[in-house]
Amino acid sequence: MEAGFLLIFEPMPEPYIHLNQVSKSYPGNPLAGVSDIDLQIAQGEFVAVLGQSGSGKSTLLKLIYGLLSPEKGEILFKGKRVLGPQEQLIPGHEKMKIIAQDFNLNTYAKVYENIACMLSNTDLQAKRRKTLETMEFLRIDHLAERRTVDLSGGEQQRVAIARALVTQPEVLLLDEPFSQVDVMMRKQLRADLKRLSTQLGITLILVSHDPFDGLSLADHLLVIRNGKILQNDHPKQIVQQPVNAYVAELLLEANIIHPAEAANWLAIALDEDQRLAVYPYELSLAEQGISAEVKQVRYQANSDELEVKAGALSLTLTVPSGQVKLGDEVFVKINNYRIVQA
Ligand code: ADP
Ligand code: MG
Repeated sequence: MEAGFLLIFEPMPEPYIHLNQVSKSYPGNPLAGVSDIDLQIAQGEFVAVLGQSGSGKSTLLKLIYGLLSPEKGEILFKGKRVLGPQEQLIPGHEKMKIIAQDFNLNTYAKVYENIACMLSNTDLQAKRRKTLETMEFLRIDHLAERRTVDLSGGEQQRVAIARALVTQPEVLLLDEPFSQVDVMMRKQLRADLKRLSTQLGITLILVSHDPFDGLSLADHLLVIRNGKILQNDHPKQIVQQPVNAYVAELLLEANIIHPAEAANWLAIALDEDQRLAVYPYELSLAEQGISAEVKQVRYQANSDELEVKAGALSLTLTVPSGQVKLGDEVFVKINNYRIVQA
């Protein structure tokens, strides 16, 4: 069959963004940066990069955008090498936009001007239309005449996103976009970013140290530590099977149970380099189980977070609020766990 014939010779589709064994360190700081990064991102994907402060998140983002050059390896965007800052007049890929922590706004100009100035004057009508559309999409049209210096952090963040968006980039890179935004605004901004991804089909790479961002938004979650990728998978998959205890703790503050305690309390035999990872919501109070003393009760509105201790074993669990108080003797049941590397 002709169709079959064609299929056989179809070339492998080139990944949209492709990092191949990319390393970058900093002068005088050879251990910092990122190393041996292999990464493929598909068009339209929402990728979250999660890691502690100093793990290399911003470095990775700058490499993808072309603000830094890799020392080793290569970065391809749609099959073409991304040029470094020394290789072009204006550093940064023209089809991408990066939004850094400092929003880089003209604080004394009006919101409208901040966004419109990103577009050329060749077609003034189109310039006006696109600016208005973008402001509406991010629900800041009512702020058009305000100076950005008079806006809240969340509103400024929106203006920064609008400035990037109005140029119709294919890829939007966001470096810790929620860090200067209060809790209420954070929720709305998360929803906005999700809309960007689903309605406009823009490829989004979001860097964050807050696991919730990655878990709630991303199609793909990348966990990095000391400049290396520890795990790269769908958020659910990473939660179900984190590669090691560090990932489980970083993601959802898992309880990490060592072999001696696993044998003692649960009759589970682990190798020396294995641990049980149990998320706080996978533990509950029961009629029988691990006998423990309540050491701390942290009020969380509709639940309490308990810190309990059974011999050498300390556990954190979330329970419906008001059930127990400090010093109570309780029984804790482990409803689910996974075995991970130490
Ligand atoms: P993150 O964004 O995850 O906090 P970065 O990518 O900014 O991490 O930094 C990774 C590591 O590289 C850190 O240890 C940081 O101190 C170091 N680093 C970043 N930029 C520079 C620089 N310009 N010169 C020297 N070291 C740097
Ligand atoms: Mg950073």
